[in-house]
Amino acid sequence: MQIHIEPISKSRIDQVDFDQLAFGRSFADHMLVAEYANGAWQSVKIQPYGPLEYQPAMMSLHYGQSIFEGMKGYRGKDGSIQVFRPEENWKRFNKSAYRMCMPEVPEEIFLGGLRELLKLDQAWVPAKEGCSLYIRPFMFATDEYVGVTPSTTYKFIIFNCPVGSYYSKPLRVRVETEYIRAAKGGVGFAKNAGNYGGSLFATQNANKDGYDQIIWTDAATHQYVEEAGTMNLMFVINGALVTAATGDTILDGVTRKSVMQIAQDWGMEVQERQLAVKELIEGIQNGSVTEAFGAGTAAVIAPIATIGFEGKDYDLPERKDSDFSVRVYNEINQIRLGEISDTRNWVW
Ligand code: PMP
Repeated sequence: MQIHIEPISKSRIDQVDFDQLAFGRSFADHMLVAEYANGAWQSVKIQPYGPLEYQPAMMSLHYGQSIFEGMKGYRGKDGSIQVFRPEENWKRFNKSAYRMCMPEVPEEIFLGGLRELLKLDQAWVPAKEGCSLYIRPFMFATDEYVGVTPSTTYKFIIFNCPVGSYYSKPLRVRVETEYIRAAKGGVGFAKNAGNYGGSLFATQNANKDGYDQIIWTDAATHQYVEEAGTMNLMFVINGALVTAATGDTILDGVTRKSVMQIAQDWGMEVQERQLAVKELIEGIQNGSVTEAFGAGTAAVIAPIATIGFEGKDYDLPERKDSDFSVRVYNEINQIRLGEISDTRNWVW
């Protein structure tokens, strides 16, 4: 499909302080905008990043047909721009679309469009250690109509944000036993906007009590660990990597998948299974749980220092360089930057 390019007249890049980048607050010069109507993708344009105009009755604002993705591009050691496994995000995007009765976005628009966009905005990919370009593809319903039914028109957009190095201090997380994020038969596995809106209240409560994040538990019993805010949860228990199996309620994370693959390649046992909160707490107490961390695009690996449950805090052991989570972080980082050979073909 032909991409019509309307370039900016003057770049805004001089206005951005690349030494002080906050996450998600600066936006690269261009965005890709594709329009869907009459059962087909009609047009793809690259245009200056800026405001769009919509009717108050735009359906996505009322009935929540809105999905997104998030991935990162890096400046490789050789100056090239490298994106980590974007095909996986493309596939996941279309799974979210299917579940939300939205049209699939073809590869030539999602990945082909991204390629053209990155060519134009190359200068926005930070070269500084630890910095990256956060890529945000999303799609929303645009019919002007009051009625709960799938929209017939949609917009697919990609914009990019240069972001600073994301240092995650070891987190304090609390096991959530009142509110839920997702349930069997629901939309937890999809990256639709409502999942995130629905998660704010419980997270805010935990923040007020001095925790950074919550650990969601299963909706039916609150006995099993699921995932954290925008991260999958992983544990090292008796030397094995343990994480919840994906299903209706858990996002199939690209980082999770990559960490599991590396663990297997290193000969480590990987267990995708239910993990009871009780087993986790007992394991921290008897020393069999040696590491806990979140895995997701933003931080890659976010170590967990403390887990709160029923009013008590349980501390994980101090982090050491020999820990699996430290070694796997270094491995992924080196692959992303092209510092070690990309034997698994993860870099695009
Ligand atoms: N769980 C949820 C709910 C998320 O939003 C994310 C971020 N996309 C993740 C897990 C981690 O997924 P990924 O590694 O693909 O970023």
